[in-house]
Amino acid sequence: MYDLSEHPLQCPYCGETSTLLIDGSLPHQRYVEDCSVCCSPIVVDVRMDEEGIIQVQGWQENG
Ligand SMILES: [Zn+2]
Repeated sequence: MYDLSEHPLQCPYCGETSTLLIDGSLPHQRYVEDCSVCCSPIVVDVRMDEEGIIQVQGWQENG
C-alpha cells in the first residue's frame, strides 16, 4: 500500500490549506515545499506512525 496519497497542509505563513502529494514509501521525510498560495517556503515533515497513518506537519523556514 505504498503509494502517493493526498494530505492537507495548512500554510504557517498565510493560513491557507493546500494539498500535498505524499510518497508513502518513505517512513520519514523532510523537505521544503513552496506554498501554492503565497509562495513562501514551508518546511514539511512527514512521518508514518505505527499504524501506518501519515502525519504531516509544516512550519516556517527560519535561518
Ligand atoms: Zn501560504
